[in-house]
Amino acid sequence: ADTFVARLDADNFALIKQGATDEETLRLRGGVLSNAMRLSFDLPGAVIHLTASIGFAVSRPGDTPESLYDRADYATSIAKSEARGTAVIFSERHAQEINKVRALEHALRTADLDEEIYIVFQPQFDVAQNRTIGYEVLARWRSPVLGEVSPVEFIPMAERTGMISKITQTVLGKALAASAQLPKSMRLSVNLSAHDLASTTAIGLIVGMVTRAGTPCRIDFEITETAVMRDMNQANQALLLLLALGSRIALDDFGTGHSSLTHVQKLPLDRIKVDRSFVAEVTTDPTSRAIIKTTVELCRNLGISCVFEGIETEQQLDALLGLGGTVMQGYLFGRPMTEDMVHEHLS
Ligand code: C2E
Ligand code: MG
Ligand code: MG
Repeated sequence: ADTFVARLDADNFALIKQGATDEETLRLRGGVLSNAMRLSFDLPGAVIHLTASIGFAVSRPGDTPESLYDRADYATSIAKSEARGTAVIFSERHAQEINKVRALEHALRTADLDEEIYIVFQPQFDVAQNRTIGYEVLARWRSPVLGEVSPVEFIPMAERTGMISKITQTVLGKALAASAQLPKSMRLSVNLSAHDLASTTAIGLIVGMVTRAGTPCRIDFEITETAVMRDMNQANQALLLLLALGSRIALDDFGTGHSSLTHVQKLPLDRIKVDRSFVAEVTTDPTSRAIIKTTVELCRNLGISCVFEGIETEQQLDALLGLGGTVMQGYLFGRPMTEDMVHEHLS
């Protein structure tokens, strides 16, 4: 009787509750709600199971409907990502997280990218040829306000806030400059994001930059499956333009997320990069070994190359060699290094 229920859109609902707001009461009510949602629906031909992820926010003096809703929405997103099917109460910790994210976003939006973004290089070693065949280019951000920020933090944020294409261009520009100073046989791999592939403008800019740098092209690109999922046709068009430059395309983080053989079948790939989570378990987990063995075979049958990421120990390397792996990347072969270190590494 003391609850107002509204449907916001699709599967989103808002409940306005009056009454006690202490944590224990909220937890109890959250439990009642999520348990009620867990009851299954017996339909002809199928049983449907639902879960509800719930976020509570307690109103405060001075709240607007928007500020109250934003906190509830944030708590719900935490429930979805960290505790699906349960209730999360917006807390001081969440407020701090939001502030931190805002500060990061602000610093990135106002950053002088050319000045603050720099690149490091991680060797890719071909065991069969016994030499380094190229380097993956990894972005780093040194903010004058926040210090060093990991790409694991700022890349997803740049994707969310629409800044990623600018970062890709900055990284590519620096990679092209570095490439000109390297031996002709060295290739550099640049990571692309979903936005780069989805936008004809972004791809056009990338193509323009690589073309202006002159031939032969020594830049390759890494894409992820999430990046091509939204629109496979558009992604394919974009990749064909990159291939025409003389670039090669690698499918990154293979085996995580939305792995689908359709991607391998439909995209013009030159290599697959097996995610380091498989490499981490190659010495201990028979399933990981089996998956690696099958992937090596798949690549061989398709005539594309297979790169392993995240090799840290001799034992992992031995296991991978035993399974037919040849191209290796990981701390064992070299940590991401500066351009100066690359020249030393090659000499
Ligand atoms: P990624 O493309 O899969 O890059 C490999 C990541 O694994 C790098 O982390 C690298 O430092 C790390 N790594 C390499 N070898 C080892 C190892 O032996 N052990 C362990 N534990 N880690 C290893 P990093 O540089 O922090 O980059 C993380 C992710 O950020 C990248 O994953 C990529 O998705 C993204 N990223 C980095 N630079 C760029 C960029 O310029 N553009 C885009 N779109 N994404 C980027
Ligand atoms: Mg990569
Ligand atoms: Mg990877």
